[in-house]
Amino acid sequence: MPDKLIVQKYGGTSVADIDRIRSVARRCLETQLAGNDVAVVVSAMAGETNRLLALTHELHGEVNDREVDVVVATGEQVSVGLLALAIRALGGQAQSFLGHQVKIVTDDSHARARIRSIDPEPLRACFREGKIAVIAGFQGVDEAGNITTLGRGGSDTTGVAIAAALHADVCEIYTDVDGVFTADPRVVPEARQIERISYEAMLELASVGAKVLQIRSVEMGMKYGVPIHVRSSFHHQSGTWVVPEEQAMEHVLVSGIAAVRDESKITVRAVPDIPGVAAKLLSPLADAGIVIDIIVQNVSRDGSTDMSFTLPRQDRERAIAILRDQAGELCPDDRLAWSDGVAKISVVGVGMRSHAGVARRMFQLLSDEGINILMISTSEIKISCVILEKYAELALRVLHEGFDLHLPPEDRASP
Ligand code: ASP
Ligand code: MG
Repeated sequence: MPDKLIVQKYGGTSVADIDRIRSVARRCLETQLAGNDVAVVVSAMAGETNRLLALTHELHGEVNDREVDVVVATGEQVSVGLLALAIRALGGQAQSFLGHQVKIVTDDSHARARIRSIDPEPLRACFREGKIAVIAGFQGVDEAGNITTLGRGGSDTTGVAIAAALHADVCEIYTDVDGVFTADPRVVPEARQIERISYEAMLELASVGAKVLQIRSVEMGMKYGVPIHVRSSFHHQSGTWVVPEEQAMEHVLVSGIAAVRDESKITVRAVPDIPGVAAKLLSPLADAGIVIDIIVQNVSRDGSTDMSFTLPRQDRERAIAILRDQAGELCPDDRLAWSDGVAKISVVGVGMRSHAGVARRMFQLLSDEGINILMISTSEIKISCVILEKYAELALRVLHEGFDLHLPPEDRASP
């Protein structure tokens, strides 16, 4: 009996060229030789999905389309074939699987499909023959057999879903960074690698801009209890473990901070303070697939109120057009305003549940730098502030230092 069942997922940069594919093949074989069954999930070679999307874009503006998925899913087909060949060239045995061959069945929403079921049997059969299973990330098929894709970064979710279906011991996510950091090290050089973090804190970090893992993959890990190990494919050091909270040893107050840039803020002034107004304004946007983030409604004065919300900048133009078109009576031009240069800065930590004072410290640190807060939103383990985008990097550095994140967890000032 093999020791363990290990799922490894390699991102685009890890399979960017034949040399790197060879080194991935070596690592898969090492893992198998150590006595494990190995399933490998791969992304398209770096840049390939963008290239394919750009081709479709020349003919068709929407991504939510059957034929667009037919095109963009091919990136992963190339990678699995090449990796299986590379494993074979090193003397190992491997078999590639596309989404329909594992039976990764999804719903039928193209470009953002959700996985419904996976049949682990073909993979088990592959292990019984002593082979490494090489699985295309990002793709599945709907009930009717049409090719679907899981959204950008979706191979992470394929990896964790395969690990869940196989009851694997771990899902290793190999990437070009060493793990999850207390902040983006390109902006905050003092950022530290996090050793262990709970699913919940990771979910919040991913949702506020930490791009290491696709959010759905963390949700999936949490739901099925799959330990996720985010690590570098360029060396053998341990990375960051994403695990249940009781195993995360998170006595830290704050786990990390992150920024979402390229946001816009839309304000509708003086809307009537009566039931149904928020629904009337925001439903058409939701119907158009525009994801609204922070929503703030003021206390009403004289029966009317101001409403502001943030959204990705790329959707702002479309959102304004939809509002004018479908909620025009609520937002005539003189009451509709927007600004494009905003960013959301968030502080995340499960320690906030039991300790007051994180918000106060955050506001004070920002104010000491003269950074004005435009909007605030909080959850149990997160505080987000919308600020002018030009201050985003400064804010990250100031908060990182102010919460002692440059120090090892045990040396940070206690709450
Ligand atoms: N190749 C897809 C993308 O670039 C999926 C992935 O890399 O996870 O989004
Ligand atoms: Mg990725």
